[in-house]
Parts: sequence; C-alpha cells; structure tokens
Amino acid sequence: MSDLKGEILGRLRDEIGTIDKDAPEAVALLYPSPYRVGMSSLGYQTIYRSINATEGRAAHRAFLPDDLDAWRQSRAPLVTHEKLRPVSDYPVIAVSVAYETELAGLIQCLELAGIPPLAEDRSEQHPFILAGGPLTFSNPLPLAPFVDAVVMGEADQSVHDVLGVIFGSDSRDSAMRSLSAHPHVFVPSAHGDMLPPIDKADSDTLPAYSQIITPHTELRNMFLIEPERGCHRGCTYCVMRRSTNDGMRIVKMDRILSLIPDAAKRVGLVGAATTDHPQIADIVNALVDSGREVGLSSLRADRLTDELVAALRRGGHRVLTTASDGASQRMRDIIQRKTSEAQLRQAAELARRHGMKRLKLYVMVGLPEETDEDIDELIEFGAELSSLIPLSLGVAPFVAKRNTPLDGTPFAGMPLVEARLRRLRRGVRGRVELRATSARWAWVEYVLAQGGRAEGRAVLDAVRAGGRFSDWKRAFNALPEERPRRLLVRPGDRLGRAPAPASS
Ligand code: SF4
Repeated sequence: MSDLKGEILGRLRDEIGTIDKDAPEAVALLYPSPYRVGMSSLGYQTIYRSINATEGRAAHRAFLPDDLDAWRQSRAPLVTHEKLRPVSDYPVIAVSVAYETELAGLIQCLELAGIPPLAEDRSEQHPFILAGGPLTFSNPLPLAPFVDAVVMGEADQSVHDVLGVIFGSDSRDSAMRSLSAHPHVFVPSAHGDMLPPIDKADSDTLPAYSQIITPHTELRNMFLIEPERGCHRGCTYCVMRRSTNDGMRIVKMDRILSLIPDAAKRVGLVGAATTDHPQIADIVNALVDSGREVGLSSLRADRLTDELVAALRRGGHRVLTTASDGASQRMRDIIQRKTSEAQLRQAAELARRHGMKRLKLYVMVGLPEETDEDIDELIEFGAELSSLIPLSLGVAPFVAKRNTPLDGTPFAGMPLVEARLRRLRRGVRGRVELRATSARWAWVEYVLAQGGRAEGRAVLDAVRAGGRFSDWKRAFNALPEERPRRLLVRPGDRLGRAPAPASS
C-alpha cells in the first residue's frame, strides 16, 4: 500500500491548484478512469472547484487506479487523493461518467472500495452513489442498477441542490424520494426507464475552466478553458448538435482571458465547436502574444483561415487536426456533416504553408448506406492530401447514440467494419498513417449506447469474468431474449456476423 499511497502523494506534489479542504459535508468525487484521463476532464475539474467553493462542503478526488491488479493484491481500499481516506467512508460518492465503457471502471472502483456495486445490495451504511457527466446527454440507463440517482445534463448548478437534498435527508430512501421530484434528476428506483430531460446551466456560470494543472495528464501542464459550450450545427450522429440545450453559447473574449492564471504557460481551448467562436483567432493570438502555448480542440475545416492557422502555429501546433467524419462526400451529405473536399484540401494547404508537420483527420466507417466505393473515395482523397502534407487518419466505427437523429441505427457488424478497415488500410499503405478503434470495442460501446438496465447488469458479469472482449460478448449474449430493450439486432445474431460487404 505504501507504494500506492506514494504514487498519490507524488501526483499531489506536482499539482498546482489542489484544494485541501475539510468540511462537515464531504463528497468523494470519483472518476472511473485513471488519473491522467480524469484530470483532462473539464467538467470533473469544474465540479471539484464548485463543490469546494460551497460553505460547509468539500470534494476529494478518487480515480480508477492505473495498476488495478496492484491495488487488488494490496487489499487496500480505494482512497481519495486529498485525504487518503477510504472512499467508502464518505456519505456521498459523486461519479462523472463520460463513456459507456467507463461503467466497468465504476464497478471496479466500487469493488476496490468494498462497496457492493449493485444498488440493491447496499444499505444505509453505504455511501449514496450519485452519477453525472457527458454520458447523461445520451443514455445513462445502463448505470441504473449501480447508482442511486443521476444528474442529467449540465450539472454546474443542479449538483449543489442535489447534494443539499442528500445531506439534508435522514435516509437514502427519503433523499431518493425528494430527488425523484427534481426535473433533471433520474432516480432509477422511482422512474423505471423514463429519463427526465437534461439540465442546462445558466450562461453566466460559463465558462468551465481548470482548477488543477498537473504534468501527469494526457494534456500535460495545460490549463483548460471552454470558450463556448455546445454546437449550432446539425450532424445527425452527434449528441452535441444544435437541438441540445439550444445549440452554442459563446463566452466573451475578455472573460476568457481574465480567467487564465499568469502561471498557466500552456492553455487548451476546449469545447464542441471552439473554432466557431467569432473571436477565436483573436483569442489564440492574444494568448500567444502573452508567451503561451495554445491547444485547440475540435477544429472545423470550414473555419480554418490563414490567420487562425498562423496563430495556431505560433502557439506551438505542429499537427493540424480536423474531422471529415464521413468517408466520402456522399456519406458526409447523408450525415449532414457540412465539410467539403475543398475545405479539407485547403486545411492541408494551410497546414503546409504554415510549417506544420502533419494533418490529422478523423473519419468514421460503418455509417448507414456506406459502401466500399465510399472507402475507395477516402483512399483516393487521402493519397491526394498526403501529397500536400503527411497525413494521419484516426478511424472510428460508427456507433449510434440516443438523442440523435441516427439513434436506433444498427451497428454495421464486426465483420463488415473489419473488412472496411482492411480495405482502407490496404489502400493507404505506405502513404498514410492509420489508427483505428477496434470493431470489437465499438460493438461493446454500441450495445451499451443503445441498451438499458439489463445490458448494464451484464457489464458486472463481464468485469467479474475478467473484462476481456470474450467476457463482454459472453455476458451480452447471455441476456434474456424478452428483456426490455431497443437494440435492433440481437448481440449473438447479426451484430457478430454482419451482412457481407458489398464487394471486397
Ligand atoms: S459533430 Fe461537431 S460540428 Fe457536428 S454537431 Fe457535433 S459538435 Fe457540432
């Protein structure tokens, strides 16, 4: 255990901005992925600051350990970073879940903490488990067997009311009864499978920004801030499209700049559509002029101008990253992704002109109506782009999400997705670097994205069986036929044996 505690203490020593607060109402703020992932989450960092800013209340962080086996073997309970206090000692565990497969991390964390993962096996002696996070924008139903309540959507403000209710109640049941009347809280024991609508924070609570800067994250020593929230576009596969919380909310440039501490030498501007901020080039230039490196998420090809790419290059960008999502123009039109070949070509030219080393392009395969001809168009276009600048493709199989127009679209099937990936890999070999998410794990994500409680419960079996892909597949395939579900094909049926590709 001393090594494991030593690792936590080492991280704390390297952090700037840690809040070490004692208060009567203490919350264990759990991230069900490792520290380096959790500390890159702006939502997690914002809730941490916000709870600690509340009088009488404190939040202490806990994460899925990097080395899960070492923790298990040590038989030490999962502890919070700030206090090295067992997570199970806290009256409330608030967990932020971003992705479907993080449900496995939640189960592992609860088991390490000595807390029964299933809500039905817990008693008044156990902490109240409150969930929230990006997953609640689409489908938090698989979490239902494991949590006591879920804050839906933007929890910036509502988390305080919810914690007030939990700490103010004399029992778990009474807290759940009160919370079930909240317009944006899902209480699985009261609501069945009916999800309440997501919450929307007041614009004057924006932007979200980092509390802690640390070298031990994927975005090393970077201060993150959100110049806008949401998106005003309408891509039909995307949860953050314009119909979600009325689209895009913009934060004024002065406010953004005023919140960046002098000590922050690297600044990440993050959001669903940062390049759609009307002053984005001015913001990047102001940050670079003050001697900072700047990172930018979600660059839209149609918003890349000479001025913006020059500013990004001055801010330290070596790779220009954007997305085309559909493999061909036909696919982009079908999914209403408003990005054209001309815009992508211009992105490559701008990247080259400003001395970038590489263009990185994100693409999906396995979209509805996609054929091999769409993949061939990508191969040809990739070759053209790679003659302008070295090109990397980041390829992900399409997974339909709830709360999108493509909700309910079946998974293309592992064999089909794998065949498309092989075709693409063969076609670009030697010219384009290609990294792809596995079709297997995309299928797991799909089952959970479209699934409900039963699929969530199956995750417990998969985790306990060892967490390999074969364990997940066995657990999903063992689900009863008659369960409530919205999956359009059975896991053991077409999902595992997709229709043959149109040609190969
Ligand atoms: S994919 Fe990007 S551009 Fe399209 S709606 Fe979503 S956030 Fe906006």
